[in-house]
Amino acid sequence: MPPNRAAQPARPDTKAMSVEALFLGPQSENREFFRSMLDFLIDEHLHWRRDFHPRDAPIVSPDEMRRAGFLATQDRMRSVLLDLSARLKDTSTPWFSTRYLGHMNSDTLMVSSLAQMATTLYNPNNVTYESSMATSPMEIECGQDFARLVGFDPKSSWGHVTADGTIANYEALWLARNLKSFPLAVHEVAPALVKGKTPWALLNLAPADTLDLLDATKKADQFPKALRASARGAGLTRSNLGKLLVPSTRHYSWEKAADLLGLGVDQVVSVPVTDRFRMDMDRLRETIDAFARTETPVLAVVGVVGTTEEGAVDQIDQLVRLRSEFARAGVSFYLHVDAAFGGYGAALFRDADSRFLEYNALQTQLAGLGLERGGPGVPSREVWAAYRALADVDSVTIDPHKMGYVPYSAGGIALRDRRILGLVSYSAAYVFDSANPLDMNLGSVILEGSKAGAMAASVWAAHRLVPLDLRGYGQIVARSIGGAYHFVRTLESMREFTAGGRTIICEPLLARPDYNVVCMAFNFKGNSSLSEMNRLNEAIYHASSYESGPLYNDEWITSHTVLEKGLYGDAPKRFLERLGIGAKEWEKVEAVNVLRSVVMHPWIANNSTYPERWESYLSIMQKDIDRIVAAGAFPEK
Ligand SMILES: *Cc1c(COP(=O)(O)O)cnc(C)c1O
Repeated sequence: MPPNRAAQPARPDTKAMSVEALFLGPQSENREFFRSMLDFLIDEHLHWRRDFHPRDAPIVSPDEMRRAGFLATQDRMRSVLLDLSARLKDTSTPWFSTRYLGHMNSDTLMVSSLAQMATTLYNPNNVTYESSMATSPMEIECGQDFARLVGFDPKSSWGHVTADGTIANYEALWLARNLKSFPLAVHEVAPALVKGKTPWALLNLAPADTLDLLDATKKADQFPKALRASARGAGLTRSNLGKLLVPSTRHYSWEKAADLLGLGVDQVVSVPVTDRFRMDMDRLRETIDAFARTETPVLAVVGVVGTTEEGAVDQIDQLVRLRSEFARAGVSFYLHVDAAFGGYGAALFRDADSRFLEYNALQTQLAGLGLERGGPGVPSREVWAAYRALADVDSVTIDPHKMGYVPYSAGGIALRDRRILGLVSYSAAYVFDSANPLDMNLGSVILEGSKAGAMAASVWAAHRLVPLDLRGYGQIVARSIGGAYHFVRTLESMREFTAGGRTIICEPLLARPDYNVVCMAFNFKGNSSLSEMNRLNEAIYHASSYESGPLYNDEWITSHTVLEKGLYGDAPKRFLERLGIGAKEWEKVEAVNVLRSVVMHPWIANNSTYPERWESYLSIMQKDIDRIVAAGAFPEK
């Protein structure tokens, strides 16, 4: 099939987007399309080389090509590649398979893999515009997409594609740190601009006011001096910039960020979570209050949308409200949302004009996609409200290589107010102007240096094909959340079964997950020992993970996690009760092993096939448990 060169990829009609057409598929179902496009793109590149001064002399003659050394080099190249391919096939994890239900992986979008492979041949480097005139603008466009997705005003926001979510989190804390220190720096170099403000007031200037102050220093020609006196020049020698408040469910990149940016891991404060694994807002309020009483500043608060282990969505709306309340009392902080995992979920709530849907309208639309109104799969009102509030935070991390279904490695960040870039810019006073190609010199305002333009191309291609609203990504995310709900329901339907002659019970961690993660644990009926239960779930994990031996033996693959008391407090208590484990055991053992499945595959939520699929998973699990118990490792006590 000759590719249609006249096709306009910019704004396609996506009313009837077929999810099945987007992926290569578990059985390489779309191989013909994939191969023909890959061939075409490679041909394009080969011709591109030839067409650039076709009369230039070739560096290799047919004669040279027949020489022994040439042929031997080719042979060695072939053998290296065969070896590579063998290793890849031997030990790679088959993300594409619906039998894989482990981490945040599934098949990736064909358009992104193809874009990435094609772009790699051109080898652009997005660190400067000069070395990436095609792909740096794509990175900026993707940044605008992220900003629109979370609801930021496109006229004043900014964003870009980072190497991953970790780097995006580093960038957020880097910005927050320099921002927090800036008013103190102004006080030092241009006190007239902050007359009458105490050091405590300066440490509690709202982010928007600090950015106005930044503008004022520019007007007064004091900006470079002030910038120099901020944490950027002076480090953290001048003042303690305060605490970084994160929920106990946060990703460990926040500790790394605090370490790297010189704040110190000890400044990271864990806020407990509720038994829904969402940040406990009362505890957050108490924590901030307590710090305020001792005049300890809060540098930033991080909410998580889609926690890595449980897929929980923090109540960002309440976080935003709490921030306004504290601001009125003279306590301000930077507010970041780590939506590395949950970011693309925002597409679920936006219509074709990128407007945030009201809850009822959303349900109607989802019903149109085959998800029953108010039924499982439809996000709760709380989750909906959390997503709506993303528009009111300072910055958001979003990973395309997670729910964007883009190959590694692509993260992303959106900033509500692009003036903040002035605090990290390494080009002369940064003034963003999208018409100015110099502003495409990304290296001067981002954490990374050289970076593959192929990644920006890959994310860009995904966004051009799959709209960031309910018609596109929303449909994929809805299917994946629907799959998770179905998994939970099936688990609930087999609460009790026998394996190895013993009665086994199972419990999902959350009866109604906020996103597409299903955590669960199994126990022997009547067993009240937590260590015994942990041993059982550990054994099930070993039987259904990469640890169980040759890949091709795996009937299904899951991941696992350990919820520790030190971090989670009493959040898992109710879950343990349902499994017959009392509070005393929790106090004693202080850790619970759970199996964890991220349901990313968009095609197993298809109504006509999924009940039978989930049941087949569970029967495989049952067989595993049967084998484990029959092997005698768990004698009845
Ligand atoms: C995955 C994840 C990260 C880190 O992202 P990487 O892309 O793996 O670096 C950060 N935060 C959360 C909530 C995540 O789920």
